Amino acid sequence: MANKFVPVSGREMPRFSGIKTFFRMPHVEPVSDYDVGIVGVPFDGGSSYRTGQRFGPLGVREVSSLGRVFHWGRMQSFTEKIRVADIGDIPIVPVDLAKSYQRIEDFYDKVLSGSSRRLIAVGGDHSVTLPMLRAVRKSVGKPVRVIHFDAHMDTYPAAWDCEYHHGSFLRHAVEEGLVNAAGSLQIGLRGPLAGRDDLDFIQKHGLRVAQVDDIRRGAGVSDFIKTLPDFGDDPTYITFDVDCLDPAYAPGTGTPVPGGLTTYETQQILRALRVKRLVGADVVEVLPAYDSSEITQLAAMDTLFEILGLMVGSTR
Ligand code: MN
Ligand code: MN
Repeated sequence: MANKFVPVSGREMPRFSGIKTFFRMPHVEPVSDYDVGIVGVPFDGGSSYRTGQRFGPLGVREVSSLGRVFHWGRMQSFTEKIRVADIGDIPIVPVDLAKSYQRIEDFYDKVLSGSSRRLIAVGGDHSVTLPMLRAVRKSVGKPVRVIHFDAHMDTYPAAWDCEYHHGSFLRHAVEEGLVNAAGSLQIGLRGPLAGRDDLDFIQKHGLRVAQVDDIRRGAGVSDFIKTLPDFGDDPTYITFDVDCLDPAYAPGTGTPVPGGLTTYETQQILRALRVKRLVGADVVEVLPAYDSSEITQLAAMDTLFEILGLMVGSTR
């Protein structure tokens, strides 16, 4: 039987035509036979500043017209090794964060339980990562190591008396025992911060941080990637907030911070990661309305491509 998990060919159906799916891959039911599902999470009710990340999945599908499957560095198509599908969007509740969290967790539980399927989510603001980690933690049976690309620590306290927002997902994930904090790594962080005590949480929990300054030191990213830890057989989760990138490389995002990484640098870091058990991933904070020339959407798609390359070389 022909492999149905291949993209629609741009040489037969021109790339600007057809129905948009992530990487032009088939759209299948969330609970069905595939290996890696890409799922949209169109929620932005956790945003503290700009909103519109609810249109992120739509924007990334749009530029997926230019998605291709063969990785020159790896000399391999992800379609040769894993069956990748677009499994649609999670039906969140735009006016209710708690209900949305429940729907995201339920969706993940249903897809992950009793199967080896893995999910890559496209957000949505960064608050959506918490319910995903709750489900992933259950499915792997122990806290996961997180590789967290971001300008921000996302360990911030409650805001307006609300505990859950896009700047606090990691604090909750650590406090709920979902994440192995000391085994995790934050990449792309930079100031300014509100105050010195913003650092208290990451210091208390021993989170390892690679600031942009650390990545640019010496010969730059080629030196930095030699310092990356080996994640080995530990269950590991990648969460990629596009604001780790400089606003020049990702203007379309919720809370941009100058002085960030380039897309080339994040590509190099993702390619160098040693992860045998990549149990899930997400790319969040894409905000198409603030994007220019689809720069951010393209960067998000390219990041998905690199993550798919890592999925090929790993299992759940
Ligand atoms: Mn974030
Ligand atoms: Mn951020």
